[in-house]
Amino acid sequence: MPRERLYLFDTTLRDGAQTNGVDFTLADKLAIAHMLDELGIDYVEAGYPGANPTDTNLFAERRPMRACLTAFGMTRRPGRSASNDPGLAALLAAQADAICFVAKSWDYHVRVALETTEEENLASIRDSVRAAKAKGREVLLDCEHFFDGYKANPAYALACAKAAYDEGARWVVLCDTNGGTLPHEVEKIVGEVCKQIPGDHVGIHAHNDTEQAVANSFAALRAGARQIQGTLNGLGERCGNANLVSIIPTLKLKPDYAQKFDIGVSDGGLAQLARVSHALDDLLNRAADRHAPYVGESAFATKAGIHASAIMKDPATYEHVPPERVGNKRKLLVSDQSGRSNLLAELDRVGFAVDKDDPRLSRLLDEVKEREAIGYAYETADASFELLARRLLGKVPGYFDVEKFDVSVEQRINAKGERITVSMAVVKVRVGDDLFISAAEGIGPVNALDLALRKDLGKYQSYITGLELTDYRVRILNAGTEAVTRVLIESGDETGDHWTTIGVSANIIDASFQALMDSIVYKLLKSGAPG
Ligand SMILES: [Zn+2]
Repeated sequence: MPRERLYLFDTTLRDGAQTNGVDFTLADKLAIAHMLDELGIDYVEAGYPGANPTDTNLFAERRPMRACLTAFGMTRRPGRSASNDPGLAALLAAQADAICFVAKSWDYHVRVALETTEEENLASIRDSVRAAKAKGREVLLDCEHFFDGYKANPAYALACAKAAYDEGARWVVLCDTNGGTLPHEVEKIVGEVCKQIPGDHVGIHAHNDTEQAVANSFAALRAGARQIQGTLNGLGERCGNANLVSIIPTLKLKPDYAQKFDIGVSDGGLAQLARVSHALDDLLNRAADRHAPYVGESAFATKAGIHASAIMKDPATYEHVPPERVGNKRKLLVSDQSGRSNLLAELDRVGFAVDKDDPRLSRLLDEVKEREAIGYAYETADASFELLARRLLGKVPGYFDVEKFDVSVEQRINAKGERITVSMAVVKVRVGDDLFISAAEGIGPVNALDLALRKDLGKYQSYITGLELTDYRVRILNAGTEAVTRVLIESGDETGDHWTTIGVSANIIDASFQALMDSIVYKLLKSGAPG
């Protein structure tokens, strides 16, 4: 049986841009649009021309892409003609393939918020769709508050949707704007709509206020809708929009959907999903959600020893889909609960062929347990674990030695009379027979130390130029009578790889230094720097 085409519409750059603390530049938007296009998304809604300079500039010129570049905006204002509405004119002038109008579909909102009549709102929908069609654009209508509107007055909500469809809109999108509708309600209402408007012209736009935006999207799909709107990582105001990063693999990997529907994302695109998700976090300067379904670092992580030994025999025993399909990887956690099977599996993953009766394994297990007792947590710091294992098995070259470092923090009054704090670090590093002394100022002592340490590593410098610290987390632990500091540093490089290193000490600078050193050595190791 031929599969039905299902369309994906991304609004990361429009609805996602409403998220608290998110402020995309034009360059950010273009980079994300390109990423979405490569992934195989059908529609990329890039902004609201006329609403702000970034979006106006974005749509000022053609941005060729495979996806349908979509501009968002309002239908014509009540009481104006379509030809005499500056907002509509800006939208029609946008260099976009499609225009997505938003219109009210809840009679209460039409009266109270829009302060107009139900008939004038319908006329505004018809006029706007007609004007955009005349300009040669594909047209979508977002029916705002559709589900709440349908519950209050089904005939009027439907009339709004029908007005757009009858006028030639390609898609009528049912929006759960307040995000409070439940999956069984969505399924029922979308089913009713699809009796009036063919499902292959109906879309769903769900918000996540009851944590069911993904479930609501699937409920709409089951009821006949053939377009799903969402955002990368579920970005969006309040609790976010439907998360396309969860929806895409479910559509591709779960037989009930995969056998029925085709989407624009290929298997190759799917294998890039984890990278795309993390690239957005990087761009937003946020730490990735470790527990994100499919793409999180913990999505395929197993801790208990008994599960780990079963996974070694057959991964399908404890995994709902193979992690590599979405570009993620299996991870077996090393922790003080773990047995030899976890350790063996983890060594296998980092590329060690160790005999399971090798006596050095007991030493490594003891070492891990001892360190965890004083505050190390290797289940998050995979790179530090790998280094520890490689060191005990005698396989890490001594690239360089930090003979000494000095960090100072000075608070003073500057020339403008402001009180400022300046941190400075001096590092003395030996690389073979060469000695390098580097100094750097930083925002804080750890930043200064990091900058000085990575300033000049002689012959190794070229191997670490792409190294970047992406996250720095500090926790104070109570170990015995004294408080100790645990530092976790997340790093990334030019290949898109990420790794986490750890340091533990009573002194925060010492702990940070250990984690920084591990990160640099790990990078040298993975780049194949000669020992
Ligand atoms: Zn929305």
